[in-house]
Amino acid sequence: MDNKTNIGVIGVGHLGQHHTKHYSKIDGANLVGVFDLNQDRCKSIAAKYDIKPYETLGEILEKAEALSVVTPTKDHKKVAEECINKGKHVFIEKPITKTVAEAEGLIALAKEKGTIIQVGHIERLNPALLPLEKFDINPKYIEVQRLAPYMSRGTDVPVVLDLMIHDIDLVLALVKSPIKEISANGISIMTDSVDMANARIQFKNGAIANITSSRVAKDRVRKMKVFQQDLYITVDFLRSLTEVYRVMDADKTDPSAIMSAPLVSKERHRQIFYEKPVIKKQDALKMELENFIEAAQGKAKPVVDGNAGKNALELALQIHNKILEDIQ
Ligand code: NAD
Repeated sequence: MDNKTNIGVIGVGHLGQHHTKHYSKIDGANLVGVFDLNQDRCKSIAAKYDIKPYETLGEILEKAEALSVVTPTKDHKKVAEECINKGKHVFIEKPITKTVAEAEGLIALAKEKGTIIQVGHIERLNPALLPLEKFDINPKYIEVQRLAPYMSRGTDVPVVLDLMIHDIDLVLALVKSPIKEISANGISIMTDSVDMANARIQFKNGAIANITSSRVAKDRVRKMKVFQQDLYITVDFLRSLTEVYRVMDADKTDPSAIMSAPLVSKERHRQIFYEKPVIKKQDALKMELENFIEAAQGKAKPVVDGNAGKNALELALQIHNKILEDIQ
């Protein structure tokens, strides 16, 4: 038990129940219990995993060293602040907070208290994205599409903060450059808020990202295309399919150019090579939480830290505000 981290989950609704399930199986985690304002829900999830249902936040904070904060976003700041103030590490579901000022406050507090903030931008650990690690990624253009059928859950926030923020975080992780210009449009279809949005982000290094998100679609789509010098990668997050097209110097008869198109450029023989990396079947949420436990134990860095969560929120809010300006 000694090298296990005492972990608790705050908010065991739709997503918090899955945090609880994974922690109950992660080797380095000792799940001490759960807390939810809805005490019936709290007791039923606790009973399912044979753990303690806590009646107050203060009580669970006495037992846990690290906590998942899986309450609605509007409460992230208040709950996480109380955890960090007690010196606890926090995994905060995305978006980190409601406002950038709240995120900055939590980051400063965590620095002062020496605790870790990790943010639940789960797509960073999507198995279909992981093959990109073996390439030197320097995109010139990224196209992302995330479409989902309408569901009432999540519609209390605009689509940019619900769906697009996943892709904003991915784009910021792939293009490591300050932003030069943003343009964005959006419309309301089903709610009083923005349900469909398109954003074009221009970076100072010349890269461009074009992101489309909609929660009014017949079928779910989550696709990304990354274009850069001599490299084109497509990622289908839902089908777990990643395809890589690379232009490389090669002899005209090189048999490993599975799908080849001969190119002659500056007298060099070049060919297009096609690769379909093998995608490991892994649960991204479990991997995120394992990473958090290791980070709490000082063995790893959080894959998405508080700053990355704040940067994604800041850009999402800028995009959303541009859309509102355009609509009015
Ligand atoms: P939910 O409404 O299903 O569950 C929230 C739970 O928190 C409820 O049981 C509620 O009683 C409880 N709660 C509310 N305020 C509380 C408080 N102050 N203290 C303790 N418990 C409290 O919501 P959800 O869909 O599970 O979403 C939770 C968070 O997860 C949100 O921030 C959401 O944006 C995020 N989320 C992330 C993803 C992802 O892909 N990473 C997906 C869905 C939701």
